[in-house]
Amino acid sequence: MEKEINCSKICPEWPCTRTQEYRGVWVVGEAFEEGLSEPSLQMLSPARSIADKLGTWVEAVLLGSSEDKLRPYAEEMIKHGADRARLLVGRQLETYLPVTYARVIARSAATHKPEIIFFAATMRGREIAPYVANTLRTGITADCTQFDVDEETGDLLMIRPPFAAILLAYIKTPSRRPQISTARPNVFPPPPRDEARKGEIIVEHVGAEDNPHMRLLRVEKVGRSGVPLEKAEYIVAGGRGVGTPEGFSMLEELAEILGGVVAGSRKAVDMGLVSYERQVGQTGKSVRAKLYIAVGISGAAQHVIGIRECRIVVAVNKDPDAPIFRHADYGIVGRWEDIIPLLIERFRERCSSSCT
Ligand SMILES: Cc1cc2nc3c(=O)[nH]c(=O)nc-3n(C[C@H](O)[C@H](O)[C@H](O)COP(=O)(O)OP(=O)(O)OC[C@H]3O[C@@H](n4cnc5c(N)ncnc54)[C@H](O)[C@@H]3O)c2cc1C
Repeated sequence: MEKEINCSKICPEWPCTRTQEYRGVWVVGEAFEEGLSEPSLQMLSPARSIADKLGTWVEAVLLGSSEDKLRPYAEEMIKHGADRARLLVGRQLETYLPVTYARVIARSAATHKPEIIFFAATMRGREIAPYVANTLRTGITADCTQFDVDEETGDLLMIRPPFAAILLAYIKTPSRRPQISTARPNVFPPPPRDEARKGEIIVEHVGAEDNPHMRLLRVEKVGRSGVPLEKAEYIVAGGRGVGTPEGFSMLEELAEILGGVVAGSRKAVDMGLVSYERQVGQTGKSVRAKLYIAVGISGAAQHVIGIRECRIVVAVNKDPDAPIFRHADYGIVGRWEDIIPLLIERFRERCSSSCT
């Protein structure tokens, strides 16, 4: 259907794209040292249902320097619902650099014209997706929790809670393509694996990308501490109320007894008490722990959005009116300096080595 929007009037630099020329749903998969990431498989879930509604195909897109290494991941994505896979292979993709990866994806998308591109909102997905969108001069909607199709226009409806999570925003990219979106890990389950499922694997050798703004000098690996936050079953999270490295050491002790990990609010991250990798919330990670103990965390909307999937939430706060208590299954009013040593003592008695 022809759009009536006069794009060049709204923005002369971004004229409308001919939306009818775009077909197919891409899911950009992440396959690095740790193998194919779980969130890549999860994104096949909305991709499959949207492609079925639009009567089009799902294409998994994987990047790397070795076709042989990527093939098994492509097959895995096909078994989980993709119709086919595209491997973007080039020497410069040996080491992950956001701009290089984004340029390669953007160039391929400009040629093959997918109507939708999905990325998982992992740290890397969040780096690449906006760059791809900007390069292709199209919109991006991040952190969606649902997707649908506008029955009248066929546009993708990208649905996400705005800041306070009380409403749902329905966002469209009506006059530009591709429609680009991200969803957080663990929002969608991966589609079931079908061993018998087969699909074409297309290999695209990509030329070197000039990157005048960035040059790789050396790679230093930062060790990951323990279980990834998204997979942790027991989490002890600290906020500004904990306030000191000594306080966080005590949270570590409790987490260790439980066989869990330490996390933090954004304020705790800003204070350098915990790494960004361990931030829970809107601009951090969504967690789905069996037990989440929030210590000295006020319970701002941007924090609690990340703990909605936790089974049991325990809050420790000295302020009885702290909003976190509205989101907690159990609340302990008191100073953490008094409460945490008692919890450590009790849990140590009950979980002689660990509670897991
Ligand atoms: C766009 C945007 C995105 C954001 N993303 C995130 C995000 O991803 N994650 C996130 O966490 N925040 C995020 N924030 C910030 C968020 O709004 C809050 O500012 C932040 O969560 C507050 O952190 P806090 O609870 O540690 O600190 P505070 O709000 O300062 O709360 C500290 C709490 O500690 C309690 N306390 C103090 N001393 C003690 C003690 N001795 N014992 C027990 N309790 C004590 C106090 O009563 C208080 O409730 C975001 C904000 C914006 C605008």
